[in-house]
Amino acid sequence: MTLPLRKHLSAPGLINTIYKEFAKVPDEATFSRQPSISLTDHLMSGLAVFGLKCPSLLDFERQKEETPTANNLKDLYHVNQAPSDTYLRKRLDDVSPKYLRSAFKKLFAAFQRGKGLERYEFLDGHILLSGDGTGQFHSNKISCPSCCQKKSRDGSISYYHQMFGVCVVHPNQKNVIPLCPEPILKEDGTEKNDCERNACKRFLNHFRREHPHLKAIFLADGLSSNAPNIEMLKENNLRFILIAKPGDHRFLFEQLEESKKTVYHEVYTEDGCYHQFRFLNNASLNKSFKNLKVNVLEYRCTDRKGKEVNFSWVTDIKLKESNVLQISQAGRARWKVENETFNTLKNLGYNFEHNYGHGKQHLSTIFCLLMMLAFLVDQIQEACCTVFQSCKQRKGTYRRLWEAMRTLFQEVVIGSWENLYDLILKKKRLVMDTS
Ligand SMILES: [Zn+2]
Repeated sequence: MTLPLRKHLSAPGLINTIYKEFAKVPDEATFSRQPSISLTDHLMSGLAVFGLKCPSLLDFERQKEETPTANNLKDLYHVNQAPSDTYLRKRLDDVSPKYLRSAFKKLFAAFQRGKGLERYEFLDGHILLSGDGTGQFHSNKISCPSCCQKKSRDGSISYYHQMFGVCVVHPNQKNVIPLCPEPILKEDGTEKNDCERNACKRFLNHFRREHPHLKAIFLADGLSSNAPNIEMLKENNLRFILIAKPGDHRFLFEQLEESKKTVYHEVYTEDGCYHQFRFLNNASLNKSFKNLKVNVLEYRCTDRKGKEVNFSWVTDIKLKESNVLQISQAGRARWKVENETFNTLKNLGYNFEHNYGHGKQHLSTIFCLLMMLAFLVDQIQEACCTVFQSCKQRKGTYRRLWEAMRTLFQEVVIGSWENLYDLILKKKRLVMDTS
């Protein structure tokens, strides 16, 4: 018996959702094309590269129609004809990154409709959005017109791309749900490098346009706890919990010190941790912005081995003895964007930062977005699909799971995602010969 897959929140449904969005991307190729291969085939092939964590694009080259890979690309990824790696690079280089946004939105909507998002609600029905910038590409030789540039002391120029990534996180959920990242690139036709704050601003505008009613708390690092950023979050109707280090916020912490709240509020939790809190509501962020009021929370946690960590945040959520533990848990969940997202992408086979080709226009950004979509598909499956969870458990690690998937993909005509997962779970199931 085949284990049932969830209609919208398992691989076939998720891939189909992406396919339907990719089929709408306008073909704006500026060079003579391989006429028989559609742009959708190129985009889906790109997605498959990251879905299968192929170490190189060459894995797909010269896939003749009768090979298992060509059949599997068709049956599992809707690829009628796989392009050569050269054409894949050329065609994707022409695609404007804005066209990939709707696929993220549709997957998020499916996750929301399938009640997946409910498990991520925290602090009175809010979701926690953790945002941070990260490097995506760096080179001293290869560049494109969108590359940000950095001049070193010796006059040499290095080139880089970054992105501002945001994920829905939850203190008790292992998986993170990435939203469409915002590329940090050189502004069109200027010499000016884009920056994280501008990328964050664009992200927030997109987020509010696409999810006008979603209750959300934004989590970010100490660079964000300044007046312009806080105003920007308020304008977009977002609550916030932002790291605020005493060294960067002397005036704020002086107010905390001078208040009568020097007595610590203490909590012991079942995991053996001892938590201490000190807080002040309605404090001025700093001397220049005395009218900008925030609530400041100082926190110390000692675990059962005696190891101590300290954090402090500013927030617009009114602090009370009854909610400071939850606020601190939300604040600490911020690290999931670093640990569970960027590090996973870097270390667990997604080949983040790996140079598949840089392109002359958008290629680097398109590859980055395709990789993030593949990561989103995996994260939703792991959160919601019991069959995927069993496969992961059977193989033990992500790396072994991806390896098993790749090997089957190359060697057996699989027919469907159900069959692929059955084979990984070593169920005896004959693979249908489709000829
Ligand atoms: Zn570039």
